[in-house]
Amino acid sequence: MEDEVKIVNYSVEGATDYGFLVDRTEFVPRYFIEEVLREKIPRDIKRLLPDIELRELIKASLENVKLERVPLSSVHIEPPLKDPRKIICIALNYRDHAEEVGSKIPEEIVFFLKPPTTLIGPFDSIIKPGIAEKIDYEGELAVIIGERAREVDSSEAMLYVFGYMVFNDVTARDLQFRDGLWRGWTMSKCFDTFAPTGPWIVSADEIEDPHNLRIITRVNKDIRQNSNTSNMIFKIPDIISCLSRVMTLEPGDIIATGTPAGIGFTREGGLLKEGDIVEVWIEKIGAIRNQLISTK
Ligand code: MG
Repeated sequence: MEDEVKIVNYSVEGATDYGFLVDRTEFVPRYFIEEVLREKIPRDIKRLLPDIELRELIKASLENVKLERVPLSSVHIEPPLKDPRKIICIALNYRDHAEEVGSKIPEEIVFFLKPPTTLIGPFDSIIKPGIAEKIDYEGELAVIIGERAREVDSSEAMLYVFGYMVFNDVTARDLQFRDGLWRGWTMSKCFDTFAPTGPWIVSADEIEDPHNLRIITRVNKDIRQNSNTSNMIFKIPDIISCLSRVMTLEPGDIIATGTPAGIGFTREGGLLKEGDIVEVWIEKIGAIRNQLISTK
């Protein structure tokens, strides 16, 4: 649709910048926005997120003025945020997923962190680490924080959300348990390339209800996860409120909200093999598609 604005991060010959999608095939780079506005648009996406007024002006400009467009196919699409200060992942946030892994349904929010070095773009390759075998996917809706949030109530938490993107919480299952010992989530989920994201950021005002979005994960076109974000145990306002009482949330922070049932580990032959392509699609946002490769 013509009036939709999504932020896309891209690179051309190694130089990264961002722009505004005008449809699903073309975008207006930041430096092609009208000159009066262009000077105000910060180089760092994280600084644009809290500036509601500037975002409105950009949106109006995209609708009213004929600006030069660039085809998406001519650039490399990068992760929407390359250097967030935090990536926070909610564990066991869908009842059917907690059941499939034999876990108790959590009564409180459980979370872990992934470092920003896990991030890759929507069509980049996931690299299989030499020390892991059982590589798995977890399709998830990710929330992007727009404003600094500290000890916020659930009733106000959505005001701190900038937007949404698709997230794959890639996991090496064989490193979660080893020698009968639970190793935690950190090692198994923190390898470089283990967080494919994108394909762009959809601002919150374009998504009427983030708790009513279909989410589908396919491996080589075979549907593995088919759910709806309405099935989350802890909803986004409660997640933000809880996290903000632990740590200050900052613009650009990413919160992955958990995965529904259907992970590869719980089915025969379900884990990813080299060459497999895993696609996560979320209604109203789009799809990310990443191949598992080995560099050995
Ligand atoms: Mg997960």
